Amino acid sequence: MRTLDWRTWAALAALALPWAAPAAPVLAIAHASLVHPDREGDAAVERDATVVIENGRIVAVGPSAATRAPRGATVIDGHGKWVIPGLIDSHVHFFQSGNLYTRPDGADFNKWMPYTKEVARNKARLPATFKVWLASGVTSVVDVGGPFWNFEVRDAAARSSAAPRVHVAGPLISMIDRPQLDLGDPPIIKIASADEARALVRRELARKPDYIKVWYIHRDQDDLAAQEAIVRATAEEAHAAGVRLAVHATELVVAKSALRAGADFLVHSVDDAPVDDEFIALARRNKALYCPTLFVVMGYQYAFSNTWKATPAEERLADPQILAAMHDLDRIPKDMIPERVAKLMAAPPEVKPSQVALDNLRKVWDAGIPVAMGTDAGNVGTLHGPSVFREMQLMAQAGLTPLQVLRSATVGGARAMGMEREIGGIDPGMVADLVILDADPLADVGNLSRIERVIRGGKVYDPDELIHSIGGR
Ligand SMILES: [Zn+2]
Repeated sequence: MRTLDWRTWAALAALALPWAAPAAPVLAIAHASLVHPDREGDAAVERDATVVIENGRIVAVGPSAATRAPRGATVIDGHGKWVIPGLIDSHVHFFQSGNLYTRPDGADFNKWMPYTKEVARNKARLPATFKVWLASGVTSVVDVGGPFWNFEVRDAAARSSAAPRVHVAGPLISMIDRPQLDLGDPPIIKIASADEARALVRRELARKPDYIKVWYIHRDQDDLAAQEAIVRATAEEAHAAGVRLAVHATELVVAKSALRAGADFLVHSVDDAPVDDEFIALARRNKALYCPTLFVVMGYQYAFSNTWKATPAEERLADPQILAAMHDLDRIPKDMIPERVAKLMAAPPEVKPSQVALDNLRKVWDAGIPVAMGTDAGNVGTLHGPSVFREMQLMAQAGLTPLQVLRSATVGGARAMGMEREIGGIDPGMVADLVILDADPLADVGNLSRIERVIRGGKVYDPDELIHSIGGR
């Protein structure tokens, strides 16, 4: 049995976790199969094991025969169950809902649904959005960019009794303008020089962001060296304050430019060309994290061609209000449908993942670059919560084993959260963020959606009750 020694325990108790929800003081999961995503082969599964949780922390882990639940503990029977660390989505956006109206810069539905109404709805719906994340077994998320309102989202999650841990970046430092999204607190701000970038970073640093984020859009006519200087200035300003730089860069030359400039976290796949040795060397030099974000492009294609269909996990765990809106194209009058969408509806594309992106994930993984699972949830067709199961399925399709996929969604996510000693594993001393599954996640990644209970900071949630409580069905 592995337990916490008293010195570590005292140190942890002194840390006083402000975000810990009130938890049953002593909890045990007995006779379960524990999956340790940081271990290899047979060692990854610990059978007939017991986990003891006190005050939101794991205090003991070991064989059930030797690891007794303390007197008075609430005991969950783990026979036939698998326990994994809580899932982590390292790429989400709370300012977007996943419905058709959430990106008027991509398709403008203002005539039918004013963007102001969509944004107001998202804000009012935040407690429900937190719950769909928890219900989906996701106990931590990284919002990699949105309005200054994002900092309020982080505060709201910290105060909530049913929310994942939330880390955030503020407005995207962008190479291009997105006026359609500017209602006074824009999520994307165009900057034209290194000085402007530094000034915006300083404004964001005042709110203690977990990341600074660059939207690195490079078109043929743009001067890559000039753009790289802006990204470098952004990185220097962020790093000087001890904050990491996340970058959206989807082409090989742009991703390499981002890494040269100091990027710590690439939140998308390189999808235009195979990654090369120079890319791998730069990623290693920066100790950069790579988030493949494979599904998001498909989400747009499905939604805008009116071929989006909920998966069984989405039927069970997504926000019912968003699910209902996913088929609005059936009822929106033709003259209110944007041209781009009308074209896609007339000739629905064959939706499939980028083979280059899948191959690159495999290469990046084999090169030992740390990978963090992320969905870009909130974008059109990528729903908060259960879209993690679509994403993990695609990662398996890329050739990662179920254990590797789970590692990216736990150990990799913990790195993205900057909490690798606190979350992402099942070990004494770690925060008790766990998911109880009723099927073996190493037999099939699809089983990761077979969620029976979610534990966040020692507090136990029933996913079906969470969804029922938000209403909207
Ligand atoms: Zn994103």
